[in-house]
Amino acid sequence: MEFVILAVVIAVVAFGAITGLVVGSRRKKQLPPPPPESPTITAPPAEPHVGEEAETPREEPRRTIEEVGLPGAEAPAGAEAPVVTEPVPPVEVPEPTAGRLVRLRARLSRSQNTLGKGLLTLLSREHLDEDTWEEIEDTLITADVGVAPTQELVERLRERVKVLGTRTPEELRGLLRGELLHLIGTEADRSVRTEGSPAAGGEDIPGIVMVVGVNGTGKTTTTGKLARVLVADGSSVVLGAADTFRAAAADQLQTWGERVGARTVRGPEAGDPASVAYDAVKEGIAEGADVVLIDTAGRLHTKTGLMDELGKVKRVVEKHGPVGEVLLVLDATTGQNGLVQARVFAEVVDITGIVLTKLDGTAKGGIVVAVQRELGVPVKLVGLGEGADDLAPFEPEAFVDALIGD
Ligand code: GDP
Repeated sequence: MEFVILAVVIAVVAFGAITGLVVGSRRKKQLPPPPPESPTITAPPAEPHVGEEAETPREEPRRTIEEVGLPGAEAPAGAEAPVVTEPVPPVEVPEPTAGRLVRLRARLSRSQNTLGKGLLTLLSREHLDEDTWEEIEDTLITADVGVAPTQELVERLRERVKVLGTRTPEELRGLLRGELLHLIGTEADRSVRTEGSPAAGGEDIPGIVMVVGVNGTGKTTTTGKLARVLVADGSSVVLGAADTFRAAAADQLQTWGERVGARTVRGPEAGDPASVAYDAVKEGIAEGADVVLIDTAGRLHTKTGLMDELGKVKRVVEKHGPVGEVLLVLDATTGQNGLVQARVFAEVVDITGIVLTKLDGTAKGGIVVAVQRELGVPVKLVGLGEGADDLAPFEPEAFVDALIGD
């Protein structure tokens, strides 16, 4: 009898264990699959800058290009899966770009005082003796105009003042305005080249813009602000976070993109910048974007290293289509150092336009002249603050008017 009871107990326990297992395994099957191995974004969006509204960090929906199922060419060998971030509505409508420099003219106040008003005061002296001309030269050199352009300007001013004879303040202002404009140049095409190109397969290739420069110059911020400029002017934009060496850069760019509804393509931290850039253009083609903006890494460790990196990014991207614009970002407050950077970058990659940032924080507005001379390419955009819409298309007339007052 005891044996029978024992057998029944064993049978019940065994049955319970088996059903438990089955239920357990059923449960297991109902669990969602493990997360994909592609990189995920864990860091919150970058800190907002001064002058911008704070944004609440939010969960970002993410897709890899594989999940999206994009058509087009395959990524280069060794490329890791990029992440395409979806913009989360509501998006902002950036203010139009026309007349931004006029609106921001007060930000040039330091250059205004040194360069514009300083020169006007000196030129208004009753006797323009040698000492005064030397002071005029010093003023221009202090404002970073550069030695050769300074000498040219002073020579022309001397000539014209002599012809003029007696000078009214209005005449002097007109004269200085004309000469500064002559120095800066009014003929150059200062538009950012964002036109796309037709591809052999019939798809349109978006305009491709690479943004290069040393870290800290405001390169990533400028890429974000430029996205706003383009969106404000009616273009659709995809961002490529190819500065994979600075950990916060991709988050920062993504935040800029989200605000105006632009997707950001990013790769794993310290991943291959060229493959991120390649995938950004691929995404741009797939969604029929007008422009792809690529933020690059600006580590000036060695010239060869930089050349390899930027050269590779450009070569790989050009498998899709031509890079229409390579913008060099320079910090206007760094003076001669900025010019040295400009020289190095120009040896490494064909610069087609210059962005001068932080002109709001310096008296050295003359760098516009010096850097154009150095590189032989025009300043196309200027940064005049940390606010989202503080990047303005560079207009020589508005710039000179802001310097000398009208
Ligand atoms: P990156 O390392 O070159 O990508 O530099 P960031 O884009 O992170 O910018 C570095 C700092 O410069 C940030 O604090 C920006 O807000 C600031 N910055 C960028 N452009 C301007 C500008 O035009 N004016 C001022 N005042 N600050 C700027």
